[in-house]
Amino acid sequence: MSPHRAHVTGVSLSDNPLAPPDLLFPVEPAARAIARRLYYHVRDLPIVSPHGHTDPRWYAEDRPFPDPATLFVIPDHYIFRMLYSQGIALEALGVRCRDGGPSETDSRRIWTLFAEHYHLFRGTPTRVWLDHAFATLFDLNERLGPANAAFYYERIAERLSQPEFRPRALFERFNIEVIATTESPLDPLDSHRALRESDWSGRVITAYRPDPVVDPDFEGFRENLVRFGEVTGCDTFTWRGYLDAHRKRRAFFKSLGATATDHGHPSALTCDLAPTAAEALFAKAVLGDCTAQEAESFRGQMLTEMAAMSLDDGLVMQIHPGAMRNHNPQLFARFGRDIGADMPTPTDYVRALKPLLDRFGNRSDLTLIVFTLDETTYSRELAPLAGHYPALRLGPAWWFYDSADGMRRFRELTTETAGFYNCVGFNDDTRAYLSIPARHDMARRVDCAYLARLVADHRLAEDEAADLAHDLTYHLVKRTYKL
Ligand SMILES: [Zn+2]
Repeated sequence: MSPHRAHVTGVSLSDNPLAPPDLLFPVEPAARAIARRLYYHVRDLPIVSPHGHTDPRWYAEDRPFPDPATLFVIPDHYIFRMLYSQGIALEALGVRCRDGGPSETDSRRIWTLFAEHYHLFRGTPTRVWLDHAFATLFDLNERLGPANAAFYYERIAERLSQPEFRPRALFERFNIEVIATTESPLDPLDSHRALRESDWSGRVITAYRPDPVVDPDFEGFRENLVRFGEVTGCDTFTWRGYLDAHRKRRAFFKSLGATATDHGHPSALTCDLAPTAAEALFAKAVLGDCTAQEAESFRGQMLTEMAAMSLDDGLVMQIHPGAMRNHNPQLFARFGRDIGADMPTPTDYVRALKPLLDRFGNRSDLTLIVFTLDETTYSRELAPLAGHYPALRLGPAWWFYDSADGMRRFRELTTETAGFYNCVGFNDDTRAYLSIPARHDMARRVDCAYLARLVADHRLAEDEAADLAHDLTYHLVKRTYKL
């Protein structure tokens, strides 16, 4: 497929206030003109999405999305954390209780409640993503609010019933070249297998996220190890068998397209213990006898083990550290994980990554991509590390900072030390399918705005900025993630 395509809807969006053409570009006329030119060349490049959390069943089954609330509100923790913070109960937004207690099932009522509170999203990236989807996919051009909630609902519901709005048709319309989902080693990857056997040509790949069998503090860790043994045929209660199970499962994931692993640890700690010490620690973890510090050491040891395996099988490694999960115990008890109650914590990298880097940091055949929820580390730790170690790359602004200003701060705080080529392009990291084009568009605009300032300052020539815009959007992500 040609990397250039017709504009998303084939109609001019220039008059639509929900999708302003100069969105996020510099206000200075000279820099704005440069940003427009740079953006023009990357606007329609294919989407390469190397890390995210969309549901592979969507692509495998290609069923219509049910209704506007189920699509936009119920699965999006950015939306309901904001509404919750203003006193709206999660039950009223259709979030299911663990204990089977009542929650709203009327999709229209959920949508109306959301529309009545749409003003809460002013100034947030959620607002920009949603407006982009409303404008480009549903041809809406009036700001959502209580007065037009029903009109919005009807328009979106009507479109969702059309074949052009099925997951596969949208995949093609979004011009997605490849998208990665994220699965646990215990996942049978049925959808990915079905996709391999189908005649649809969309490229959907998995990624290996072993937290449930690597983290002694993960819910059901011991039972997870039992299942890990069943799916791999390895004795996962011995250290050697456990490591073999990882090797086998990584190979299985690789056979279904995986090019990367992902590790969501509370900290970036890595360890490099002697084999006997690692084995002893594993034995304690299996018995549930680890102290908090020992559990931390075990996770840290596993990062180094995973890096060693990556050198053998070539999978790119990603670390997403620093989230304190389930910060709100009452909400966790009622609704479980991933309900918008995870919080960033200060994160150390220079010391924490040292054991792994001492062993593998000089290897240019290893790619370790590090993310952060601690923006103070960009210039103090991450850019200097990535600007030195051949194995290390800097993941894009993540989660709370996957926003226009967050991405701008990322460039401003890392580029002078790490350059552009120790970064890896953009990750949308989303479960909200319809936000994917909006998120990539935002990243392209922010990069073009940043590059335009460098050109206007005479720090870069415009032809170099144009190359960079292309690399940051497309080539860098493909090369780094081996896609
Ligand atoms: Zn993620």
